Amino acid sequence: MDYTTPSHEHVTVIEVGTRDGFQVEKPFIPTAVKAEIVDALIAAGIRDLEATSFVSPRAVPQLADAHEMLSLVQRRREAHIAALVPNARGAERALGAAVDEIVCFVSASATHNKANLNNTIEGSLAAVREVADIVRGKAEMRGAVACAFGCPFEGEVPVAAAMRVIDAYAKLGFTQLTLGDTTGMATPPTVARLVRAIQREHPDLPVTLHFHNTRGVGLANVMVGLDLGVRRFEASIGGLGGCPFAPGATGNICTEDLVYLLEESGFTTGVDLAALCAVANRVEAVIGRTLPGQVMKAGPRLRKYSLDGAACAVG
Ligand code: ZN
Repeated sequence: MDYTTPSHEHVTVIEVGTRDGFQVEKPFIPTAVKAEIVDALIAAGIRDLEATSFVSPRAVPQLADAHEMLSLVQRRREAHIAALVPNARGAERALGAAVDEIVCFVSASATHNKANLNNTIEGSLAAVREVADIVRGKAEMRGAVACAFGCPFEGEVPVAAAMRVIDAYAKLGFTQLTLGDTTGMATPPTVARLVRAIQREHPDLPVTLHFHNTRGVGLANVMVGLDLGVRRFEASIGGLGGCPFAPGATGNICTEDLVYLLEESGFTTGVDLAALCAVANRVEAVIGRTLPGQVMKAGPRLRKYSLDGAACAVG
């Protein structure tokens, strides 16, 4: 890509913080506060959210309020609301809450799938088929591949292992695909290899990239995705996130930092960065610990310079 002139191409930023982020927080966040944060994100210009999860309330008590939370969101009609579902029961609950999109997930790594879902990959794909049969025609279907770029137990994940799950999603009629870097193991070469393979074998299946910043290269991987033509990225407000079943997994790439990078690179996101930073600061207060987001602390870059060319800000 040539970044010297803005392309103004639209890039979709999908907020996953109230799902991927909140699910690892132990103290229960009041349902009304969750809904208020979703509303604030929509007010800031976010139009796509994976807002919650219809997993078993026993497995993830933090998200046991999924249905009620969505019913409290005031600006719901302005956004596309997705929710994670693990099985037929979750699919029924998600449809009952009138979500726009359901998200299924299967790991590309057999060991992680066993640890995360207590199932074989075949078994998980059978559950995905049940979900698809319930949801098809009633909501959009997104297939997520966890550990698409590496596994904390198995190390490298071959392209063929991810492709096996992706092929299954395509056959079942899924129209959106998320490549999840669950434990932050993606690198520019692994991203390029898998995205190119999907563009070759499933040219009609739009790719969404979901990076964690565990090793500090999340936004570098976004740049690789952009160069490959990917225009959908998932991120968490303030950089919330992790995976309770993956050792050492830390937060997603941070939504404000992603929006900053995209807008400064000449893309259009439709998101108000200052408003988004205000939401991040609110989330930080709710969580009660410092979040890893950087633009929320530094603020957007100053665009005014003094006459001698030195930036107004010092330090
Ligand atoms: Zn994640």
